Amino acid sequence: MMETLHEEQLIENRDALATHYQAIIDLLGEDASREGLLKTPMRVAKAMQYLTKGYREDPAAVLRSAMFEEEDYKQMVIVKDIDFFSLCEHHMLPFFGKAHVAYIPRKYITGLSKIPRVVDIFARRLQIQERLTMQIKECIQETLNPLGVMVVIEAQHMCMQMRGVEKQNSLTTTSDFTGFFQQAKTREEFMNLIKGNR
Ligand SMILES: [Zn+2]
Repeated sequence: MMETLHEEQLIENRDALATHYQAIIDLLGEDASREGLLKTPMRVAKAMQYLTKGYREDPAAVLRSAMFEEEDYKQMVIVKDIDFFSLCEHHMLPFFGKAHVAYIPRKYITGLSKIPRVVDIFARRLQIQERLTMQIKECIQETLNPLGVMVVIEAQHMCMQMRGVEKQNSLTTTSDFTGFFQQAKTREEFMNLIKGNR
């Protein structure tokens, strides 16, 4: 999964994807050769490669690229309202929303901008919301070894909303945590802080 695709391979894959998307457009009952659709297969191929670029990035390396020793700070570090866009692995339709991340440093902190990047890397893969939540948690726990980490994700799933399976605008919330966040009080503190300006 973490294999690095070289530029040449990416272009080769993109061209193959475009060929397949051309067939898909025809199979859906359209005419892939009509003018408005001529460039669509290649556009879709490029878009899908972009939306799955998380396979070609290493989230732990991103965290380590700005990891600092900080022995004294033992309070919660919170990055909330991180917008993300992902694709559900069951329908390859978008699910998107906000991620909220907190950790309590043991010895290391990371640059604040790195947390949204980690969210982004895991989101830009075929996902389910539960696993996305867990993978962000695990990556931070394993890389920074904090006293605890907690991740909360709220998302809307187009595969439910567009297909009329569930109410429009319904939010799915998932959470996962380690360490100090096993204490209900610590989780509450985090939940109260992310509710803040909503
Ligand atoms: Zn789905």
